[in-house]
Amino acid sequence: KLHNTILELKGNIRVFCRVRPLLPDDGAAEGAVVSYPTSMESLGRGIDLIQSGQKYPFTFDKVFNHEASQQDVFVEISQLVQSALDGYKVCIFAYGQTGSGKTYTMMGRPEAPEQQGLIPRSLEQIFQSSQSLQAQGWKYKMQASMLEIYNETIRDLLSTNRSISSDPVRPESAVSGKQYTIKHDANGNTYVSDLTIVDVSSLTEISSLLRQAAQSRSVGRTQMNEQSSRSHMVFTLRISGINEGTEQQVQGVLNLIDLAGSERLSRSGATGDRLKETQAINKSLSCLSDVIFALAKKEDHVPFRNSKLTYLLQPCLGGDSKTLMFVNVSPDPSSVGESLCSLRFAARVN
Ligand code: ADP
Ligand code: MG
Repeated sequence: KLHNTILELKGNIRVFCRVRPLLPDDGAAEGAVVSYPTSMESLGRGIDLIQSGQKYPFTFDKVFNHEASQQDVFVEISQLVQSALDGYKVCIFAYGQTGSGKTYTMMGRPEAPEQQGLIPRSLEQIFQSSQSLQAQGWKYKMQASMLEIYNETIRDLLSTNRSISSDPVRPESAVSGKQYTIKHDANGNTYVSDLTIVDVSSLTEISSLLRQAAQSRSVGRTQMNEQSSRSHMVFTLRISGINEGTEQQVQGVLNLIDLAGSERLSRSGATGDRLKETQAINKSLSCLSDVIFALAKKEDHVPFRNSKLTYLLQPCLGGDSKTLMFVNVSPDPSSVGESLCSLRFAARVN
């Protein structure tokens, strides 16, 4: 069976599955009584999804069940985050349908410290480590940017010109003349023209940045018809380190990506603009899967250029870079079809 994948560790790509808890609203529409443990079982690395009495088993590098806390999840990625300080290029993605817990996993609820997600936790760890490495002569410079890709168009989430960047009708480029063109240089660095890049030197500074970006994204949500679930969010931290004693240098990049909802066309019943949106999402998610698949198979041609997202992340996906994908799954019985699709997608890249 195609979906019954045996775990194979391929290159530097890992896949973690996270099942969120059942929420009060789940399954209410069906009026069905479905208890979470009977529809899904978490076995550490294996997960079984049961649809219409049929059992679909999957295996990933790690499976987090509904009881896993934000800290439990962070513990499993903290080494990967740390490697960005050692000069690695790291990408961590959250994939899944809308409502499956991607934003919770990545950002969490910033107002509750124990519910903070991977982005604030990663930054905290990076700042703490960079400070303790000072004793060994290391000096670090950190630069952050945060953007959204919607319908293959880039939007700057750290732009201070909010009235332009949150305009629901006109794309920002039409108003400001900003193009956000993606360029790669010979050293494997990526530049997005006109994108706001912020030097960050403290945790307080970056926390306020994150709040600003989250707000900028949620302004978009109400004004732009739930656009946040229709767009990819890419947070990038660029780390340059130099050791004043040994003159050793490192250039690491940490990308944390909250992907657009993966729900299928048929379910959203899209027409017009919505159809265009859904097609753009489907296209870029399948491009991402094609790229990761080609990298895992060590194919000569990797189709990075087929979407903005993969082109943007190109230098951080190949070579000795490290990639982790979270596949977020909802235990809601009415989502079982979408959950199966998500697990199959993840099994393909795993
Ligand atoms: P997505 O970003 O995939 O659309 P969200 O992250 O917004 O989904 O999650 C949907 C809802 O479920 C939110 O109310 C969120 O707070 C809640 N949620 C998601 N994952 C968890 C979790 N692990 N524990 C508790 N609540 C969660
Ligand atoms: Mg979300």
